[in-house]
Amino acid sequence: MKLGVHAIFGGSFNPPHFGHLDTISAAAREFGLSKVNLLLAPQPPHKEIKYASLEQRMEMLALACGDYPLCNPDFTETHLPSPCYTVNTLRYLRSIHTNKSLVFFLGSDSLINIHTWYDWQQLLNYAHLVVLPRPQHNGPLLPKTADWIKTVEQTDKNMLKQYKNGCLFFAETPLWDVSSTQIRLRLNENVQMDNKQQHNEQQLLPQKVADYIKQHHLYDSTANSL
Ligand code: ATP
Repeated sequence: MKLGVHAIFGGSFNPPHFGHLDTISAAAREFGLSKVNLLLAPQPPHKEIKYASLEQRMEMLALACGDYPLCNPDFTETHLPSPCYTVNTLRYLRSIHTNKSLVFFLGSDSLINIHTWYDWQQLLNYAHLVVLPRPQHNGPLLPKTADWIKTVEQTDKNMLKQYKNGCLFFAETPLWDVSSTQIRLRLNENVQMDNKQQHNEQQLLPQKVADYIKQHHLYDSTANSL
């Protein structure tokens, strides 16, 4: 019997880009999912969020998902107590979606750091994890993470809909070499360049998001660290 699936992809989306949208759309197709919720983290415990307000990130995420039929903006964590540890969010979602398969997507850079996540070894008690490949983010795993992966990794994708949680899968999606940091840095550089030299952001993020950023003068601060 196949279970219904509630799939989520967490991020700060500051701003959302093609690395999020195209990767997760390809992963949704690979695993036969009709929808993935892009779950906005208001204040991720491991990251400082600057240069765009929560409301601006929400608006950008809604605009970004507009042209991606498999992506749905999800602001659930804005209603949960802060800090929102992923394990607590998954426990909460499990209490709502009691009979569904719960799937949490993360990039390969996040997998490398997963041992730093609060209660990381409990994550699979609530959900499956699906790791998205990410270029230049494939450093070595700690031995304890590698050992854990050996015990939980599955290659049979059917298991994602046969069990409610407990498996880790590696997606085989194409690589998109883009990050929000890279975009913030480029936009900041553009402010200081003449028109001829400016980087072309259209290759990195949807036009509607690029227009929003321009309209709201986001990321053009002269701060040293973006
Ligand atoms: P920043 O550069 O600000 O750290 P980011 O580009 O890594 O941001 P986040 O919103 O922090 O984006 O990432 C949310 C999730 O998306 C994470 O699990 C991350 O690993 C994944 N992700 C981000 N960019 C890519 C990409 N190009 N390919 C695959 N996964 C990605």
